[in-house]
Amino acid sequence: MAYDVVIKDGRIYDGSGLPSFTGDVAINGAQIVEIGRINGGARRVIHADGLAVAPGFIDFHTHMDAQLLWDPLATSSCFHGVTTLIPGNCGLSLAPCRPEDRDHLIGSFVRVEAMPSQVLKAAVKWEWQSFPEYLARLRQRLGVNVASLIGHCALRQFVMGAESSERAATPSEIEQMKDLLREGMRAGAIGFSTNQNRRHMREDGRPIASRLATDEEILELAGVLGELNRGSVQISRGTLGTACPAEGDVDFFRRLAAKSGRPVIWQSIAHRWNAPELWRKLLSLAQDSLATGAPSYPLCNARLFNGRFTLKNAQNFDDLPSWKQVMFIPVEQRADAFRDLEVRRKLRYEAVEDTRPSTFTRRWDQIFLIKAALPKHQHLEGKSVEEIARLQNKDVIDAFLDISLEEKLETLFQNSGSRDELATAEILRSPFTLVGQSDAGAHLIYHAGYGYATRFLGYWIRENKVMALEEGIRKLTFMVASLFGLNDRGLIRPGMAADLVLFDPETVRECEPEMVNDLPGGEKRLVQRALGVKMTIVNGEVLVEDGEHTGVFPGRVLGNGKIANGYLSS
Ligand SMILES: [Zn+2]
Repeated sequence: MAYDVVIKDGRIYDGSGLPSFTGDVAINGAQIVEIGRINGGARRVIHADGLAVAPGFIDFHTHMDAQLLWDPLATSSCFHGVTTLIPGNCGLSLAPCRPEDRDHLIGSFVRVEAMPSQVLKAAVKWEWQSFPEYLARLRQRLGVNVASLIGHCALRQFVMGAESSERAATPSEIEQMKDLLREGMRAGAIGFSTNQNRRHMREDGRPIASRLATDEEILELAGVLGELNRGSVQISRGTLGTACPAEGDVDFFRRLAAKSGRPVIWQSIAHRWNAPELWRKLLSLAQDSLATGAPSYPLCNARLFNGRFTLKNAQNFDDLPSWKQVMFIPVEQRADAFRDLEVRRKLRYEAVEDTRPSTFTRRWDQIFLIKAALPKHQHLEGKSVEEIARLQNKDVIDAFLDISLEEKLETLFQNSGSRDELATAEILRSPFTLVGQSDAGAHLIYHAGYGYATRFLGYWIRENKVMALEEGIRKLTFMVASLFGLNDRGLIRPGMAADLVLFDPETVRECEPEMVNDLPGGEKRLVQRALGVKMTIVNGEVLVEDGEHTGVFPGRVLGNGKIANGYLSS
């Protein structure tokens, strides 16, 4: 047999953005070896008539650092055609970490990324301290490829201990962080991530460590990547009212990219009702910054921001001081605070009457009761809090809190009103925005972002025609691979890695998330299936077919672009 696998008669979207064409793809081992009309025999022929054949999607914004340890398939990402994912975002990674710092590091994940601490404490076995040791642990078994960033919080915590969340670093501490980053980069990290989002706190209410870093410290760390001429910087900044960076931050991102010479991927551009023109301004600043020759790219999101929450651990209200105070009271006493009329008065003022900007939009007509805990409230499911308040002749805060209290804070709500569709379409359409920000592996019971790519393909491209499918595929593949230095991925070409997805452009879309109890210890999380995805192929092996894992584990830890063993980045 000439080939291991031949994919026949598919419509090839090669990732470059060029017009798609009908043809075959031949694979030997883990590589694509031929494209076009393939006549030689193959051990397996996959008939792809009617299907799109594209490079596998690269989910560049995940928090799968912990989940990969117990779920090497990275469910549900693998069902949506994701073949490589990037953990270590937003300043958070699980390495390097000293034994005495584990709880603090986990405390940052728990609060920023809303992962249950009992799950992390039970399931993370800490078989590493250094970043190279963490990568070695990941290599043991992977379904998808993983390329990891090193988190700034972990670097700071390792060097500065408890003071990492209290003060700026000294020059010698910065040097130690740079050494750790160098060590991680040499072992195959693909860059580093940092986070100065003012909403991001640890479980104990302290700011996460990277928020205490000066701009100088961040420039110094990015300088390590410049010195090695490898790797990218992911940076999250958010003002309290919008969760988007301030206008002045865009210039810092430009300086960071210009000084290090490395790609900077910054979070993020999104429409917000409380700052309805900010996205337009940020988009134009991003364009100006790129025009100077600095490789600094904004990211954006295709998925619905239908944040689900209960009053046990909602983060929707963190911008509002009295709400934040109440939400940090232990759950057992929180209910008493919600009953207190004086507290309620303050909560009502901040969440209804106040007009100061806040991430929380105060649109109670857009907050829906999704699932009641008690049968007697089931008739309210699907209704907005505003509607429920009207039915019960109460004001929205009383209606909202009374139901939650009666249900021991288990009532599940959904906040649906956070962005404008036309603005979102325009942000997605910009040729230089990265589409992703799935946060896969995080916010486990609030939203499932695994299907960002299938949503982009189904909802935005097929139904809303925001761009040609070729351009959409380029954004999900070649563009990401290029900016993160995954030099042998993201294109269908002879010699490139055989990471592919086969899907039906007429039907592809994401399914509604479903709650399951599959976390270690039986804890709950949302999972999400896809429709129209026929096959996910990783390194030449079919990982998922018709939504089912085939039993293989072909994933690898990808490195930062050094040539080794004949592969560019594996
Ligand atoms: Zn993140």
